[in-house]
Amino acid sequence: MSPRPESAAVVIVGGGAVGTAAAYHLARLGITDVVVCERETLGSGSTGKSAGGIRLQFGDELNVRLSLRSLAELERFEELTGQPIDLVQPGYLFLLDDERDVGVFRQALAVQQALGVPSREITPAEARELVPQLTLDGIVTATYCPRDGYMTADAVVRGYAAAAAARGVRICQSCPVTAIRTGAGGRIVGVDTAQGPIATDTVICAAGAWSAEVGRLAGVELPVVGLPRWMHFTPSDGGLPARLPLTIDFSSGFYFHREGAGLVFGGREQEVEGLAEHVARRLPVLLELPVTSSWWGYYEVSPDENAIVGEAAAPGRFLYATGFSGHGFQQAPAVGEHLAELVAGLPPTLDLSPFDVARFAAGHERREAFVV
Ligand SMILES: Cc1cc2nc3c(=O)[nH]c(=O)nc-3n(C[C@H](O)[C@H](O)[C@H](O)COP(=O)(O)OP(=O)(O)OC[C@H]3O[C@@H](n4cnc5c(N)ncnc54)[C@H](O)[C@@H]3O)c2cc1C
Repeated sequence: MSPRPESAAVVIVGGGAVGTAAAYHLARLGITDVVVCERETLGSGSTGKSAGGIRLQFGDELNVRLSLRSLAELERFEELTGQPIDLVQPGYLFLLDDERDVGVFRQALAVQQALGVPSREITPAEARELVPQLTLDGIVTATYCPRDGYMTADAVVRGYAAAAAARGVRICQSCPVTAIRTGAGGRIVGVDTAQGPIATDTVICAAGAWSAEVGRLAGVELPVVGLPRWMHFTPSDGGLPARLPLTIDFSSGFYFHREGAGLVFGGREQEVEGLAEHVARRLPVLLELPVTSSWWGYYEVSPDENAIVGEAAAPGRFLYATGFSGHGFQQAPAVGEHLAELVAGLPPTLDLSPFDVARFAAGHERREAFVV
C-alpha cells in the first residue's frame, strides 16, 4: 500500500480487475506516474465476488475479440506477472431448450469460428457425455468451447497490482475519490480523496457498479446500475466429473461449475430457494448437496448489456470502462490495455469505439445476446 501522492499523471478510480489491468498496461507502456485509488481494498467490489469465468462464446463479434485478447493474456499471466491464477479450461457448455435461441447461437458460432474459436454445436447426447448427471428433457441442442474456463479472480487483481507497483504505480486503498475538480476550459485539474487532494489531468473511472456516481463527479452520465447476483457453494461434488464444464441452462440462467472439492452454482434468482426448480429440472443430484455458504455481488448493468468504454467528450481526459453486465472480469485484460492506449494516444489494438457511451444518446445500442 502506497501513501497518497500529491500529484499523478493518471488517477484510476477503482481497484478491481479493470482498474488494476489498466494500471498494469499503463506501466507496461512506461506510464508509471499513476495512482490507483480504491475506496476499500483491492478486489473488494464485484471482482472479488465473481465466478472468475472467461468464455469465447459471445454473440457480439467485438466481445469475442475482447475475450480472445484477454484469454491470451490470462493464459500467460504467471509468466507476465509472476502471479499464479489457477486457470482451468474445462470449457463452457450452453444448454438450449428454446428454439428461438438456437438460430441466435448458430449465427454466433459462425462468428466465433471465423475468428478461430474452437466452439461447436453438440447434441444433447454429447452434452450428457460431458456431464452424465444432467437431465436433458426439452434440450434442443447445446454449444461447447473447450478453451473457456475460470480462475481465481482475486489472484488476477493481486498480480496486476503487484506488477504495476513493481514498475512504480502507487496503490492507495481506503482512498475513496470524493470529487473531480475542473479548471479553465473545463479541463480536469485534480481529484479529492478521503486522504486528501491529488493534482492530475487524467482520470480513469473503473468503479464498476458505482461508475454512475463517479461519472457524476465529472458531469458525465454513465448509465450503469448495480444488479445483485448470488453464488452458492457446496462442500462436495455429487460425483460430477473431474473435468466439469461450466454448464449453463441458458433460458433459466442456472449455471454450475467445480470449486475445489465441491461445486458452485447460481442463477438469476436472489434466493437459493428460487433456483430449486431449475436445479431439479437439470441437475437433480445437486438438491442432495448442502449449501454451506453463499455470497453476492453486483453485475454492473448497461441498457444494452454491453460494455461502456471510451473517453468523455467533456471533460476530456475522463476515461471510463464499466457496464460489462456480467463479463467485466474476463474483459478486463483487453479493456485495461485499451484504456492505457487511449491515455498514451496510441492506435488501439482493438477498436472499442462502438462501446462509447455516446451510442445511447445516438440510438446505436448494441445488444449482447449471450448474457447469463
Ligand atoms: C456473482 C457474480 C459472478 C460473476 N461472474 C463473472 C464471471 O464469471 N466472469 C466475468 O467476466 N464476470 C463475472 N462477473 C462480473 C464481474 O465481477 C464484473 O463485471 C467485474 O468484476 C467488474 O470489474 P471492475 O473492476 O469494473 O469493478 P469492481 O471489481 O466492482 O471494482 C470497482 C472498484 O471501484 C471501487 N470504487 C467505487 N467507487 C469508488 C470511489 N468513489 N473511489 C474509489 N474507489 C471506488 C469499488 O470499491 C470497487 O472495488 C460476476 C459478478 C458477480 C456478482
